[in-house]
Amino acid sequence: MGICITDTYGLILEANSAFSKITGHTLNNLRKKHFDFLFSLPDNAALKATVHEALSFKGEWEGEIRDARKDGTIFTVWMNVSKVPTEGNLDSYYVFCLYDITASKVSQEEIHHLAYFDSLTQLPNRRKLNDRLSRILSTMPRSHFHGAALFIDLDNFKSLNDTKGHAAGDQLLIEVGNRLQRTVREGDTVARVGGDEFVVLLGELSADLAEASHQANTIGTKILNALSQPYTLDDFEFNCSASIGINIFGHGDLAQEVFQHADMAMYQAKKNGRNSLCFYDPLMKESATAYANLEQELGRAMEFDQLALFFQPQFDYAGKILSAEALLRWFHPSRGLLEPAEFISIAEDSGLIVPIGFWVIECACEQIRRSASDPALCKLQIAINVSARQFQDPDFVRKTFQLVQISGIDGSMLKLELTESMMHNIDQVREKMEKICELGIRFSLDDFGTGYSSLASIIKLPLEQLKIDQIFIRNMLSNPGDTIVVKTIIAMAHSLGMNVIAEGLETEEEKHFLKDLGCSSYQGYLLSPPLPLPLFENLCQQHANFPTPAHTLA
Ligand code: C2E
Ligand code: MG
Ligand code: MG
Repeated sequence: MGICITDTYGLILEANSAFSKITGHTLNNLRKKHFDFLFSLPDNAALKATVHEALSFKGEWEGEIRDARKDGTIFTVWMNVSKVPTEGNLDSYYVFCLYDITASKVSQEEIHHLAYFDSLTQLPNRRKLNDRLSRILSTMPRSHFHGAALFIDLDNFKSLNDTKGHAAGDQLLIEVGNRLQRTVREGDTVARVGGDEFVVLLGELSADLAEASHQANTIGTKILNALSQPYTLDDFEFNCSASIGINIFGHGDLAQEVFQHADMAMYQAKKNGRNSLCFYDPLMKESATAYANLEQELGRAMEFDQLALFFQPQFDYAGKILSAEALLRWFHPSRGLLEPAEFISIAEDSGLIVPIGFWVIECACEQIRRSASDPALCKLQIAINVSARQFQDPDFVRKTFQLVQISGIDGSMLKLELTESMMHNIDQVREKMEKICELGIRFSLDDFGTGYSSLASIIKLPLEQLKIDQIFIRNMLSNPGDTIVVKTIIAMAHSLGMNVIAEGLETEEEKHFLKDLGCSSYQGYLLSPPLPLPLFENLCQQHANFPTPAHTLA
């Protein structure tokens, strides 16, 4: 503890070495010095006056002082001063006690920094951002300006992290932070709020909403441009873009909604195509709420027995039913029959596709088991669709084994339709497929031609069938490019020893055209729509009882 004693005028009589160390003045230097030197920084002028006043009226003062040492470095002390009266009421002395709290102040600042700033980019974090927003919102009733929150998400950060490692990812994030800071004005806030998510908070935009939107749009466009310039990372160049959601806010808006709405707009920007920006629109909130409700209801759909499989028969050219594709339907309690387009992507995004997918396998197995004793149905293979998310589930192989073995069916009656979108890690995919093949299960490649799978990877896979996507079938008679695609797929399937099926067949002309190209199986509304189980079974019975008339053949 630093101690010094002054005379009644405040001139130092004695000081100890701790006092000299805290203040940076030698003992000699301190003698006869007025204690005012403890308030040398201009910011401390008011504090000095307060201390003088307290000493003359009460004879004591206690409080914190942050000032400069002789060498200019900063110290912080807790100071306690009291007047010591002398006998006979002659002049009194003052005793100053200084507790050095500089070190704990520094660590407090460090703690503050850790709590409010992102350690990688040194940008404010979500907590600090919330503080800033509260401050902006609290000044809004007085001024009529608008603010804007720009929610920024990098479009291809994950691929960099996955292929080049986290160190490269970190470098990119730091550079993104720098570019963002260079793009906005000094008073604006750039924060990092998640892995590759940043928020720019703009205050003091125009009071006119249209003009404020224009200003935010200009800055958003600048940011898109800055972030899409190539990045030089270590020894390689990386291209990245961002999606930005913008929410303009004003007096009366709720803090928690400001970022939520910007986030929703960002998702819309991603949907619209990357490297773009999108403004929040209240309709988005409605559709986000509807989406969340549907997701919740879908979570309960299995439990309430609302899911069903429809069956779309697959024919040979002569009209004989060879197999059927099981297609999921949802009998929604208030919206009626829903097709996959309305709920499969929700199931995929939420992960519900995993349990639903297993339910589909279980149902298909049950159907095959029931059909085994029926001459009209026992030879029909059932195909089911498998989503990428479901196939990648670590438990997929084990659970499929379990379901197929419990049902006791002949595995070769079941076919799994995979899509090109899941062919990223081809060796892993092949390993899983080969394991499943041990059950006798067959594989078809659905929507073929729409993805980017290479011939080299396809020939490695144990596929039985290629399924030409309906988009090519629809256009092959009018578009020469699509004719070539269809011809090539059929020729390729033949040379790889696979069979080939055309889906989405709607006209006789398409069917004849495909036959001439050597297509072996057909599926589409021309022949039959997907049917509920009883109707599908009826159709199969009719076909079994009344073989296709000869005149419809060939
Ligand atoms: P997909 O596997 O390519 O199925 C073919 C889709 O084409 C089905 O739509 C079918 O009803 C429709 N379709 C059949 N013939 C015609 C035709 O002649 N013209 C036209 N325009 N369309 C035809 P659906 O049932 O709406 O299923 C859509 C997609 O949903 C399926 O495409 C599949 O990717 C997915 N899906 C369906 N069921 C399941 C399932 O159980 N699990 C998973 N993961 N996905 C499923
Ligand atoms: Mg399919
Ligand atoms: Mg398909």
